[in-house]
Amino acid sequence: MSAEPGSPLSALPLREDLRGLEPYGAPQLDVPVRLNTNENPHPPPESLVEDMAAAVADVARGLNRYPDREATRLREDLARYLGNGLDAAQVWAANGSNEVLQQLCQAFGGPGRVALGFEPSYSMHRLIARATATGWAAESRRADFTLDPDEAAAAVRRHSPSIVFLCSPNNPTATALPLDVVSAVCACAPGVVVVDEAYAEFAHAGVPSALALLPRHERLIVTRTMSKAFAFAGARVGYLAAQPAVVDALRLVRLPYHLSAVTQVVARSALAHRDDLLATVAAVKAERDRIVAELRARGLAVADSDANFVLFGGFPDQRIVWQGLLDRGVLVRDVGLPGWLRVTAGLPEEVDAFLSALDAVLAGAVLEGVAR
Ligand SMILES: *Cc1c(COP(=O)(O)O)cnc(C)c1O
Repeated sequence: MSAEPGSPLSALPLREDLRGLEPYGAPQLDVPVRLNTNENPHPPPESLVEDMAAAVADVARGLNRYPDREATRLREDLARYLGNGLDAAQVWAANGSNEVLQQLCQAFGGPGRVALGFEPSYSMHRLIARATATGWAAESRRADFTLDPDEAAAAVRRHSPSIVFLCSPNNPTATALPLDVVSAVCACAPGVVVVDEAYAEFAHAGVPSALALLPRHERLIVTRTMSKAFAFAGARVGYLAAQPAVVDALRLVRLPYHLSAVTQVVARSALAHRDDLLATVAAVKAERDRIVAELRARGLAVADSDANFVLFGGFPDQRIVWQGLLDRGVLVRDVGLPGWLRVTAGLPEEVDAFLSALDAVLAGAVLEGVAR
């Protein structure tokens, strides 16, 4: 039974339900303009870099010890940032919100249980469900990518899921969810309801957060990340807000000391600089709005965006446009939605490069009769 060194994955005693799966991953290609992973294009300011370096040097002297396994001070800072009357007991943090989502699936999903999502949405919801042996049920969004409260509630009753995933603003469509949808789902969900708000800070003024509903719904969980608005993707910090009992549930499945002392202090430094960091959000939103306007002016289909990216299309074959942009040094994301592509709002000069590359691709494609 022993496998030869170098023998294929299929020769290993892998779980049956993992056979044939592909690892998640956007291509990490070395091209001049990378607008494919919804990162904030603004690097941390020098003053934050210095503060982080000092904080890391300080914590380095104690790295012989395990970190605070409760990440208490970080959770206090996160609760203060979220406002809405939240305190540290209602907040949990981990290595990226993907780890938070995994812990939620470990605690509330698992074999014999089902998670429900409304697609197209963030593919990691389905993949994390699968990796934790949680069943997956998918319902479709309407043609404009919105959700109807009554239809969403009917889907919940039909599937009786242990976990419902909602995503607002939704990746990859950028659509924000009105709170009546969240309320309608919470009112009939037999399990927990997770609202993934990775892009909340980029929403237009007046677009509400599901945080406001936490006092009314015991099983509502709102997940957030520092990867996008805080320009902190490389540090891996995600978090959630929920009732304290939800946090107790996650303590049962988290690994001991899951959040390193280094991560905890750099995240606290970033939160202390939140005014500087969130100032970049306004710049990113301006570029997002410019992309929407420019693409609509070109007659393309463009979904309304409350995020730092834009879903655009109307292409007979989006793969040709994706390749054409790449050939011109611009990497966007083909999210597997026929006819559509997703572009991240980058720096002004990156957006300019994207628009001129797109014009060149479309001009060539119209001549060849393939793109429109
Ligand atoms: C980017 C993203 C995340 C964030 O993942 P991290 O692990 O925190 O970097 C979570 N949810 C959605 C919908 C995202 O697009």
